[in-house]
Amino acid sequence: MEAIDADRHDRQKRVAGWKQESVAGARVLVVGAGALGNEVVKNLLQLGVRKITLVDYDEIVPANLNRCVFFSEADVGKKKADVVAREAKRLEPAAEIAVIDKHIEHVDEGVFSSFDCAFGCLDNLGARLHLNAQCYGKVPLIDGGTAAFNGRVQTVRAPSACIECGISTRDYKLMWKKYSCVGEILDFLDPKMPALPTTTSIVAAIQANEFLKMLFNQGETLENRFLFYDGLKGEAKTYGIPKRAGCPVHPS
Ligand SMILES: [Zn+2]
Repeated sequence: MEAIDADRHDRQKRVAGWKQESVAGARVLVVGAGALGNEVVKNLLQLGVRKITLVDYDEIVPANLNRCVFFSEADVGKKKADVVAREAKRLEPAAEIAVIDKHIEHVDEGVFSSFDCAFGCLDNLGARLHLNAQCYGKVPLIDGGTAAFNGRVQTVRAPSACIECGISTRDYKLMWKKYSCVGEILDFLDPKMPALPTTTSIVAAIQANEFLKMLFNQGETLENRFLFYDGLKGEAKTYGIPKRAGCPVHPS
């Protein structure tokens, strides 16, 4: 074998501005070990990220299997984050994977500032807004979301606009429907969103790409705007999100 074929990262190291040591040294938080979390972790491992902490309290059900690359039938009933951690180690034995078996609302506030980047891989707005508020000013957040053929990615890095800057009164109403008066999530009211492995792969790849741009200080990140992917039209567009005066997450 020739030397240039012996290094698994050789081809990406040929990309202008690439710094493999920065990728390997990054400390990354992935919140949500479901569809997007699976794909984001897969992408990060292939790129050579080694230090990944997963946050998820949930267990695998058969309905997860159409879009979660690390899960199989035998994993039904196991914790999602534990299975992603196990499979990540199988893909990359040198990876250092930690699991926080908690709802994002119950993760200690001090945790967030110990990472270089956080990925939002959540399926509901309440949890995403909580993560957004916890990350703001402590760690850049790359948030992804999917619904059937549509996807959305936004990067939040203070002093940029945040997720909450861009949400509407309608979003708030939908969110409050999901919470009881004591703030506990009523999962039985959670409508099961249509979800595809195709959209999941695309959105997770865009999220991982945002991470690279931030790490290498290259290109234009999705700050103060979000990317909307329309799989039926076959196009992606970005829309500006101005920083909102009165947003509860940050002083304007
Ligand atoms: Zn805001």
